[in-house]
Amino acid sequence: MDNAKDLSRMEPGFELDQALAEAGRCLLCHEPPCSKGCPAQTDPGTFIRKLRFRNLTGAMRTVKQNNILAGACAVLCPTARLCEKECSACGIDRPIRIGKIQRFLVEHSWKTGWKVSTDRAFERPAARQEKVAVVGAGPAGLSCAAELAKQGFPVTVFEARPEPGGVLRYGVPAFRLSLEALRKELADVESLGVKIKRSSPLQGPAAAEKLLREGYAAVFLAIGLWEPIRLKPKQRPLKGLTTSLDFLAAVRDGKSREAGGRIKGKVCAVIGGGSVAMDCARSALRSGAADVYLLYRRSYSQMPAEADERALAQEEGVHFILLNQAVDYVTDSKGNLKGIGLVRTRLGARDASGRRKPVEVKGTRWVLSADCAIEAIGYQPAEGGLIRADAKDCRTSQPGVFAGGDIVRGPDLVVRAVADGKTAARSILEYLDRKASAGRKAVRPVAA
Ligand SMILES: Cc1cc2nc3c(=O)[nH]c(=O)nc-3n(C[C@H](O)[C@H](O)[C@H](O)COP(=O)(O)OP(=O)(O)OC[C@H]3O[C@@H](n4cnc5c(N)ncnc54)[C@H](O)[C@@H]3O)c2cc1C
Ligand code: SF4
Ligand code: SF4
Repeated sequence: MDNAKDLSRMEPGFELDQALAEAGRCLLCHEPPCSKGCPAQTDPGTFIRKLRFRNLTGAMRTVKQNNILAGACAVLCPTARLCEKECSACGIDRPIRIGKIQRFLVEHSWKTGWKVSTDRAFERPAARQEKVAVVGAGPAGLSCAAELAKQGFPVTVFEARPEPGGVLRYGVPAFRLSLEALRKELADVESLGVKIKRSSPLQGPAAAEKLLREGYAAVFLAIGLWEPIRLKPKQRPLKGLTTSLDFLAAVRDGKSREAGGRIKGKVCAVIGGGSVAMDCARSALRSGAADVYLLYRRSYSQMPAEADERALAQEEGVHFILLNQAVDYVTDSKGNLKGIGLVRTRLGARDASGRRKPVEVKGTRWVLSADCAIEAIGYQPAEGGLIRADAKDCRTSQPGVFAGGDIVRGPDLVVRAVADGKTAARSILEYLDRKASAGRKAVRPVAA
């Protein structure tokens, strides 16, 4: 197997005839339930209707106008529990493959040279004077920035890392979203006039205040969750243990040889049962691991990973060890990882998440031999806790400061981060309009 290629190759999308055939199955619903099922209001009911009547430009325009990151969402959205779940065709047959059609339209725009920067629907209104700052160039920050740029605002995005994209750039593996696809979507954002300041971290709770003092009229905080949650064993191995964040970023950064070198031919254990754990396990296999074991403390049906991700991981050869809790690491005298200590669990009463809690079964500790391990048990805010903001308008308690995406919601979805970005942009526009009109009233000359 050509591992490097396998790490970066996406499954092919629809060709025109396939997309048209799929759109041909659409029932052209009057008030399309699929559109109501999309958190970011990408409006599949409208773009599928346009495609059905062969208005390809109109369909591409609808997609990108409603969701500047539509290409990423098309491949990353868990459509089976969003738009496709609501599709009326479900009652008769299988749902329309909305994600696939959306991906086709975005890729068709690349093939045909249709661009947001030259399309009439993206012509900007008169320039606004008020500068807006966005902190974090993930899906939430980028969507907010794009929406405000479309309204004529000068927007600067401050991004801590060398490249924008957030988790899309440093987390999601390239075989699910290629770097090339991501770059094209980012280029769309920048073509609207958004300035992205790379390698520009803003730290601390006072960062927003500082930006306001520096003359930004509003600030959107969208910094995501970047601190990995760690197991707390008595001792950690010196070699052979890594976190999902470091592993996926290395693979994504084109350092697959380094990550692969550490893993190639070895037995690798991935601890966790969510989407991130599946990404790690599949990436480890594609990096040449001899065997990959996924260790999860609850049962198969309780795994937070989507059903299709679990199935794909199993199809590709990941071994699932369920109802086992990783408790410690076994090392040799030089600190090299040699195994993972596991204790069997049984399911007890339901916890706050509504799932049955894993309870360790005493006296069942055993050791799985492994050369390397990846902890993939979640992320938390890098500093402080989650930011409090109103879900309906992304306002925080500080006037002029808005927040959204994972740093407000906790770990969530790309499409919900996009939705927050759009909501925040609407709220910022309202806030700045109100401020501008209050300013005009204040300077109105008194009638003689
Ligand atoms: C490995 C992985 C796979 C995933 N797969 C999926 C999937 O298939 N489908 C799906 O819908 N969701 C998926 N998710 C979840 C999804 O990626 C997130 O919900 C989404 O990225 C959140 O967007 P965000 O903009 O809030 O934050 P992020 O994407 O985290 O972006 C935040 C940005 O802020 C920057 N930043 C942080 N601190 C600072 C600072 N102090 N100053 C300046 N910049 C800063 C970060 O570098 C980053 O670029 C996945 C998550 C992970 C980790
Ligand atoms: S953005 Fe995601 S949820 Fe919305 S219509 Fe597209 S694929 Fe479905
Ligand atoms: S709900 Fe399904 S059938 Fe109806 S418009 Fe949307 S995609 Fe078409």
